[in-house]
Amino acid sequence: MKIPRYNHRSQFTDLTATTEKIRHTLATGDYILGDTVAHFERRFADYLGATHAIGVNTGTDALTFALTALGIGAGDEVVTVANTFHATALAITTVGARVVLVDCEPDTYLMDLDALDAACGPRTKAILVVHLFGRSLDMGRVTAIAARHQIPLVEDCAQAVGATWNNQRVGTFGAAAAFSFHPSKNLAAAGDAGALVTNSPVIAHTVRTLRGLGQDGQDNHVTLGANSKLDAIQAIVLDAKLDQLDTWNADRRTIAARYTHALTHPDITTPPPSEDPGDHVYHLYQVAVPHRDAVLAQLRSDGIDAVVRYPVPIHHQPAFARHGFDGKYPHAENQATRTLCLPIRPDLSPAEVDFVCDRLTTAITDSEEALA
Ligand SMILES: *Cc1c(COP(=O)(O)O)cnc(C)c1O
Repeated sequence: MKIPRYNHRSQFTDLTATTEKIRHTLATGDYILGDTVAHFERRFADYLGATHAIGVNTGTDALTFALTALGIGAGDEVVTVANTFHATALAITTVGARVVLVDCEPDTYLMDLDALDAACGPRTKAILVVHLFGRSLDMGRVTAIAARHQIPLVEDCAQAVGATWNNQRVGTFGAAAAFSFHPSKNLAAAGDAGALVTNSPVIAHTVRTLRGLGQDGQDNHVTLGANSKLDAIQAIVLDAKLDQLDTWNADRRTIAARYTHALTHPDITTPPPSEDPGDHVYHLYQVAVPHRDAVLAQLRSDGIDAVVRYPVPIHHQPAFARHGFDGKYPHAENQATRTLCLPIRPDLSPAEVDFVCDRLTTAITDSEEALA
């Protein structure tokens, strides 16, 4: 049995209708912004319960624009978490600010909020939280910390589109939020795409200016900006999928529950249960196992597309070698060395889940015997 991580064909309930819209756009030449992009931006903002969504090239650009719009630059510090995707930390350095890392929790692998609180100092100009793996942070605590220190909050929602905290969608708690529609994410474009979401008309206006080469009105470049606009063709793809997102996220939860129920081997640590039903959209289903690399190799040779997210935390990445991180991040390191992600596409069948559980349990038993 082959268990791939993605099934992109299954994400189009009506592929003919979507290709027809794309054919129409190809013929009309309305490729850049226009009604198609505006329509998706409106629907995506409404879906989240936010006032503005601005379509950009990537989630990375959305993060960079969020920080730029908040006026963050040289001499400023932004606090984020040590175990995240490179793009989170990259955006901070792109605007010229210093990355301040904090460790994660040992069980959820989400940012340690006591550490966040302690890391906020006079130079901290933003808090950049990451809803890693699709699980929402405790946004009650996060917003309280941000409010107490009077520091703007930015959410990296690249992995958590559709997740809620207390029935409020992630991406609506802070000054701005970044979403990615990379084909691997829960809402996937047919290539790179992203969005910045905000309730602030000022930030929205600034980001619309930034994504369009700093133009505010024809030939009036008020800032340098960048060229980063969501393509109309990507907006068509995203618009076609948005209605199913909640169903897919519910399917992911069902699959996660089946994994957690079946993975009873005492050496497998499954994700801790969610506090409320909406707070995890299982972009990734992560387990901690002994002899991780041997177990991963075994799963892969069994045809199971398991992966490690992420094997190298930010403070060990060569790109940040000159940054001189001096903190200790033992839980992030633990997560990097002991965990792996099992396939969790919405259309994974119960039989496929059971097969993965069976092979994982066998792989662990085998690796323990080999090392005994
Ligand atoms: C995917 C991802 C990004 C970057 O998104 P792109 O669209 O690939 O630029 C940022 N942060 C996290 C946590 C991600 O998973």
